Amino acid sequence: MQKDDKMKVLVTGGAGYIGSHVVRQLGEAGHDIVVIDNLSTGHEWAITYGRLEKGDLADVDFIDRVFSKENFEAVLHFAANIVVPESVSNPLKYYGNNTRNTLNLLTMIQKHKIPYLVFSSTAAVYGMPDVKEIAEDTPLNPINPYGASKMMSERMIQDLAFATGLNYTILRYFNVAGADLKSRIGQATPEATHLIKVACECVQGIRSGMKVFGTDYATRDGTCIRDYIHVDDLASAHIAALDHMKKGGGSNIFNCGYGRGFTVKEVIETVKRLSGKDFPVEETVRRDGDPDALTARNERIRTTLGWTPQYDNLDTIVKSALDWEAEWQRRKSV
Ligand code: UDP
Repeated sequence: MQKDDKMKVLVTGGAGYIGSHVVRQLGEAGHDIVVIDNLSTGHEWAITYGRLEKGDLADVDFIDRVFSKENFEAVLHFAANIVVPESVSNPLKYYGNNTRNTLNLLTMIQKHKIPYLVFSSTAAVYGMPDVKEIAEDTPLNPINPYGASKMMSERMIQDLAFATGLNYTILRYFNVAGADLKSRIGQATPEATHLIKVACECVQGIRSGMKVFGTDYATRDGTCIRDYIHVDDLASAHIAALDHMKKGGGSNIFNCGYGRGFTVKEVIETVKRLSGKDFPVEETVRRDGDPDALTARNERIRTTLGWTPQYDNLDTIVKSALDWEAEWQRRKSV
């Protein structure tokens, strides 16, 4: 990257799992980074470049102060709640922290005339699509409040871009997993619910066992299929998106996935095989809000951004998650 490609960027949620991996890659590329995070699920140690402004996106005056102090060229917006079943039982938390807080941020993006936005969206906006592989123009029909909260945010971003000069990239993440291959950072969310993280906690003895939620789905072994993408491949998509917008590429929506899926049982077997550890797995009823299968079509991001995944291998993803979990438990014990 050329020197004049360096930007001053705001990263909301930069202390969290995905945000912290993106901050690391932004920092390595030489960008000047300010993180806004309320540290509700993130950690200050995970911010390896730039500086933290601790606060909440519900507080518009706080966001306004940060924008007034800095001259941001781009915003990357990660801060959100992401647990599907929690969104079903506590929907207003999601419409507040995800949708309303995105509105707050967009208000400041408009006021301070920020030209570039990268937004963390999700495959959950598609709901239960009737296609084998999901393309970006597959109709949006979320089946849980998490997906709906993100779909509404996407719509606000598109409408604001239409009305102003804002350029946006909406990235629809499939199932993000794994960690930095050197175990410097990784998923450290308390009370994690995501499949690979939960299985790695079983290996570490943090949990005595785990559950498979539903074995009667219309899939090859009856358990849900998801497209697991390594967090550093997802992070590099953000850097490529920023670069593309800066070069005049305009606004885009991209799926972020590898275009293939694994069942819940296949993932758990991989964790057991790579760790050499067995742990109890109970087959139980379906969890609220889970679609059968979600796999991405990713031609658009590959051709438009030239994005090429480096870690498209379930063993690589799981091994990095296992290594990180061991390191994280070691850090917590000292
Ligand atoms: N899952 C499971 N046991 C767990 C956690 C998740 O069977 O302890 C299943 C879940 O029902 C879904 C898949 O694993 O079918 C992926 O769920 P996760 O929460 O990791 O991601 P989501 O797809 O909900 O974003």
